[in-house]
Amino acid sequence: MAYYVEEKLSGSAIGARRPVINEYFLSSYTMAIYNGCEFGCPYCDGWAIQPRPLNERVRAPIDLPERVQRELEGLDRGDLVGITALSDPYQPAEFTYRLTRQTLRAFAEHGQPVLILTKSPTVVEDLAILERIHASSLAIVMFTLLTIDPHLAAKIEDRAPAPALRLDAIATLKRAGIPVGVALMPLLPYVNDTDLILHATLAAIADAGADFVVWDYLLIPDERHRGRINEMLARIGRYPPAYYRDLYRGRALPDLTYRNERDQALLERCDALNLPVRAPHALYAGRLRPQNEAALLLKHAAFRDSVQGRTHLARQGRELADLVYAGKATDIQLRASPLYDTLHAILRRTRDADA
Ligand code: SF4
Repeated sequence: MAYYVEEKLSGSAIGARRPVINEYFLSSYTMAIYNGCEFGCPYCDGWAIQPRPLNERVRAPIDLPERVQRELEGLDRGDLVGITALSDPYQPAEFTYRLTRQTLRAFAEHGQPVLILTKSPTVVEDLAILERIHASSLAIVMFTLLTIDPHLAAKIEDRAPAPALRLDAIATLKRAGIPVGVALMPLLPYVNDTDLILHATLAAIADAGADFVVWDYLLIPDERHRGRINEMLARIGRYPPAYYRDLYRGRALPDLTYRNERDQALLERCDALNLPVRAPHALYAGRLRPQNEAALLLKHAAFRDSVQGRTHLARQGRELADLVYAGKATDIQLRASPLYDTLHAILRRTRDADA
């Protein structure tokens, strides 16, 4: 069990506006509630930035909700804040401090769009607050889910709530009308990336009623993290670390050919299940700042273009998305996009509001 340290926040609660929008989480801001994560999953990127074990100590910034309350005054109501940063907002510390709940109340008062990323069904206890936020702007919950196999989950994330509980929570939130996504993150080569496992995982996600899924690959930024991953592989006992050496060759991400091949397989499987691979436009249409909405639409189309080999179109789409998000895209640049009519209709809302 982690020990908890109560402290006052030293910097900003919500931080600076992102220079580019986050296409996975739709966010213009990224924040964490707690510092440290008791779930302590061995593959978590958080290990790489903490000198001490990630799950040894959890810092609880007790003044965070009131700081958020103040900082929200200065935010555009169309900018979504992602509570997604390297610490689960519904880890056990939440039962003691309820900082996530109090923070969500501040979002509800301001009508600020929010996306929460968690592994815990405890988020359902805050359903009434999420409904309030969603009634005035946008509230999305995303569950991280790597596998539906409880035996594998016990070896790679034994302190996090069981996958079946997360699937139940998806269904509960959906019944209440809250949009739900799934982050299949990270894809662990040879562990949860085989066709058989992915088919079962994606089918369960679709059956639970999730609106969309996103995925990304295991990052191994340094030797310390590589050692922890090797220990995890030894615990699973199926594959020798040499497999990872061949796939990573000392780099932070696995081989590009491998990623392209898995991206295509995942996209085809999701299409067959009618499971969107990014948040569908209908989910956020009219609920975000028009520039954000248009930028997301472009980035999500670019993702599909890139996986399906239309690399030039994908690059153009991403570049235009960043210009649109920054409010710098000209009409001539917009006209070059196959999505021009839709983009024009979305961005006209900005011009109408300015008039
Ligand atoms: S629950 Fe999320 S933030 Fe916490 S250790 Fe696991 S991956 Fe990291």
